[in-house]
Parts: sequence; C-alpha cells; structure tokens
Amino acid sequence: MEGRHMMLCKVAVMYGRELARYGFADAHPFGSDRLDAFWSRFTSTMLSNSNNSSSSGNINANSDININTSRSSNSSSSNNNTPPSNNNSISNYYNSSIIVEKPLLIDEQILLEFHTREYVEFVKRASQFGIGYLDYGDTPAYKGIFEAACYVVGTTVRALDMVLAGRVDHAFNPIGGLHHARRGSAGGFCVFNDIGVAVMLARKVYGLKRIAYVDIDAHHGDGVYYEFDDDPLLFIADIHEDGRYLYPGTGFEYEDGKGEAKGTKLNIPLKPYSTSKEFIDAFRRVERFVEDARPELIIMQCGADGIEGDPLTHLRYGSDVHYYATSALHRIAHEYCNGRIIALGGGGYNRRNLANAWVDVVRALLASNQW
Ligand SMILES: [Zn+2]
Ligand SMILES: [Zn+2]
Repeated sequence: MEGRHMMLCKVAVMYGRELARYGFADAHPFGSDRLDAFWSRFTSTMLSNSNNSSSSGNINANSDININTSRSSNSSSSNNNTPPSNNNSISNYYNSSIIVEKPLLIDEQILLEFHTREYVEFVKRASQFGIGYLDYGDTPAYKGIFEAACYVVGTTVRALDMVLAGRVDHAFNPIGGLHHARRGSAGGFCVFNDIGVAVMLARKVYGLKRIAYVDIDAHHGDGVYYEFDDDPLLFIADIHEDGRYLYPGTGFEYEDGKGEAKGTKLNIPLKPYSTSKEFIDAFRRVERFVEDARPELIIMQCGADGIEGDPLTHLRYGSDVHYYATSALHRIAHEYCNGRIIALGGGGYNRRNLANAWVDVVRALLASNQW
C-alpha cells in the first residue's frame, strides 16, 4: 500500500496578471492584491520554483479553447496533461500534479447565456467612462472593468472546460465565484456571475443536467440562488452569516426553492461569531444534501470571509474549515461524478486568511487518498 501515499489528483490552478485587472482601487476591500496574496503563498508552499509567476510554460494558453464547439471527445488526445516542464525545475512533491493555466477572455456571446444584453451593454458603457457605480454603492466602475470581468468569467469557463474535457481532475480559479451578480445587475463587488455562466455552459456544451453548487462564502450567494430558485436540477447548498446581520440580507432556511424546484436548495444561516464547530455541523448537512442530489458536476465557491479576522463579516471560523469542506466535496465528487469539481475563490478580505484558505482548497483537491 506504499503507493497510496503518493497518489495525487491533477489540479489546474488558474493564474495570470489578467485576473489582477479585476479589483477596485482606493482601499476597496476587493483590491487586486488579493490575487497576489494567494499566489505568493501558493508558490512558496506548493511549487518548488517560487518565481514562476509568468510560467505556465506547458500550456499554450488561449489557443485551443473555443467553448462554442463541443470537444469533449477530442481534447483528451492532447498532451496538455504533462506537468510543468523542465524549466520549472520540478522537485517539489506537488509540482507534477499542478498545472498553472492562464486566464481566458470570455466571448461576449457566452456572457449572454446568463446575462441580459441590456446589462452587458450597460457594463460596457460604464467601462468606457469609468466613473460612478454599477450598483448602489458597493461596486464602482473603472476603465476596463468590462474586460476585467470578462476575464473572470472566461477563466472559470476554462477551469470548467479543463475538468469536463478530462484534461485535469479538478480546477481552481482564485478570482472567480462572483455570486452576487444577477442576470441584469451588479451587486456586492460582482459584475458578471461566472457561476451562472458556468452552469449554463455545462448544460449547453456538455449536456450535464444535475449540478450541485456549494457556497461557503460568509455572504449568501443571492445572485445564484434567485436566478435558479425555480430550477429543479441546480442543487444549491449555501452556508453563510445570517442575513439579518450581513449583506445581502437573504438566504434564510425557509428559502428552499420554488415550484417544482422546492427542496433543491439548502440555505443554512449561521449566527454572528459562529466558529468552526457550527460550520462543520452545518457542513455535514451539506454533504448529505449533495450526495442525495446525485450531481454530475460540483461547483464550489470557497469564500474565505467567514474566517476569524475578516474585516467585513462577523463569523469566526478557524483555519480548518476550507480544508475540511473541500476534502468532503472532493470525496463526494469522486464517488458520484467522476471527480468533476471546480472551486472558485469568492470573497475574503483578510489577505492572510484568503491565502491560507485557498492554498488549503488546492491541497485538499490534490489529496486523492485521504478517505
Ligand atoms: Zn480528485
Ligand atoms: Zn463574501
């Protein structure tokens, strides 16, 4: 059984400077330095060569990805599964299982699979002028915000594509999981909803039906919930701080889906100051819920703003919850859906917390023999 110790899943970690374009200036909590905080922690702990920020040398990024055409059958023949090549000086235990993959700019047509044309045009105009807000005061416009938001969506789509085409087992996009954006409006630092687009594409391009969305961000994922609350095949489980105390003020336990989708959503609000214990108790319900859903794909939003020390929320999770939750979903993904899981960074405004939490997410996705 010696070999079992060495078994790792192959994980794509999305990274490139294009993702740092998505961030707000003037000491806004969602600054583009969040990406750097993750990346420097990730490279120093997980990759043996810590200065490979512009590497991903094995990937011919942005070349062969075209989500408009179904290619689930032909992609596996490429040899993009080879680990980072020699110039990355592989010596670290993890290196051969991690693929660093570049961001992708989404095609505007694909945004329209989820967002309304009016809203996309509105963001484009705001992006030209770069003044004012896209919502009621949380999400400022800046010049280039349209392209920046298109990179977020494209990168999540590329992560999804890599997993569904079988090029990697799992994928993580640190600047993804913008769960407050609605089809027709921005909200809570979120311009375009990469989760919503991913759900629509997983169905349209890959023909998936049953999808589980698990959201552990401290805020309720209202942009996903309300746009799919009548969709009986999107199973949503969302643990967050009670909406009476935190933005966006929604996600109550009685909100469990509408019409024929009733029962396909699980909202678990936690009181302010809840700790790892309350989280893990709640997460056990999430595990059963996702298992019962028999999903074909799991999308995880792993916001780190529930960890003690976050400046925006009142939750006090320990540093153990991200590894715990990701491991559990990783196990379920292998049991029920061929390992198909993608993870998206989401919120998190204490830089140290988000860096540690997201590195734990990647570590938990790599570890294939822990259960
Ligand atoms: Zn795995
Ligand atoms: Zn949040």
